[in-house]
Amino acid sequence: MSDCRRLRGRILLSLFLTVLCCSTSAGRACAERLAFERSMMGTSVEVIVCGAAPAVAEEAVEKAFGEVKRIERKLSAHRKDSELSEINREAGVKCVEVDEEMYRLIEASKVFSVLSSGAFDITVQCLAGLWDFGGPEFHVPPPSRVKSRLDRVDYRKIRLGKKDSTVFLEKAGMAISLGGIAKGYAVDRAVAVLRASGIPAGVVSAGGDLFAFGRKENGAPWKVGVRNPRAHDRNIALLPVSNMAVATSGDYERYRILDGKRYHHIIDPRTGYPGEGCMSVTVVADNAMTADALATAVFVLGPQAGMALLERLPQVEGIIVDEGGKISASSGMAGVDEGAADEQPGPPHLHQKDTVLEWK
Ligand code: ADP
Ligand code: MG
Repeated sequence: MSDCRRLRGRILLSLFLTVLCCSTSAGRACAERLAFERSMMGTSVEVIVCGAAPAVAEEAVEKAFGEVKRIERKLSAHRKDSELSEINREAGVKCVEVDEEMYRLIEASKVFSVLSSGAFDITVQCLAGLWDFGGPEFHVPPPSRVKSRLDRVDYRKIRLGKKDSTVFLEKAGMAISLGGIAKGYAVDRAVAVLRASGIPAGVVSAGGDLFAFGRKENGAPWKVGVRNPRAHDRNIALLPVSNMAVATSGDYERYRILDGKRYHHIIDPRTGYPGEGCMSVTVVADNAMTADALATAVFVLGPQAGMALLERLPQVEGIIVDEGGKISASSGMAGVDEGAADEQPGPPHLHQKDTVLEWK
């Protein structure tokens, strides 16, 4: 077994943004950097900008946060007057005309569904209400209730009308939500706004799903820390990235433990229950929406089928931590920390020092 493989087998990973030497407190400068943080989209959104005059940077960042806010409002499933709510209300009744952006997002979601053989499916929304993961009403729904809704979960029943920009959910009771790509899309949009405002380098992160553009002041790529899904203060891998997105889906972000079993918010459309087999999946891609969606998809597919998908897709790499804590990385990545590979095998345990994975 190669050192790399042994190394992978012994470390637990999860992703967390760490931009070294950089404060994330609002507006505090670190060398030429400015870092900002706001609570949005149910998570913490962080923006770091580099290489621009403070006045220019602050204006650009304000615009970028404005864009995230706009997307948050638009994609919220809670607003009764939103296009999404209308699509869901009219399920099984009639098609709904939507604007170009909404159409493109739903179309893209279907592409991810096809790519992942249905593991990513925005129609899982009709099951979400049965759980109330984030809220006080969390409970495990009885199998009969889950089963009775499974026939409404099918991305192929989202009918798109390109000519008129319409969306129709074929079955009454169907519902969609874009929660699986919303953060990634918002990150991409915020980065576009920063770039259009003349910011040469920076990082936008929404709850750890991020895009890093340009390079640090010293010309080095940004480093994204990957953390242990069972010990979030541990940084066990660093991914050097520039003009790339990194997103993680984990079973530890929104979850409850009942009778010793962990229930989390990533639903396997085949069963209606939380996906099993992985603790976390980190995906690197050339845009954050893709990384976000694929992290969810690979998580649902599980370690084997998930890795097969990562290997099949060009320009996409990833790291999977399975339910036993075993790591596998796609072939575009290599472990280079030889010391770490000498650790004793055993059950999942904390890894004591940073492990650097590099792009080949
Ligand atoms: P994570 O950060 O762990 O990936 P996200 O917030 O990105 O979590 O995605 C979880 C959200 O995606 C859920 O709240 C739900 O709206 C949606 N979702 C859950 N399971 C699926 C799935 N199989 N396909 C598409 N979207 C999903
Ligand atoms: Mg995600």
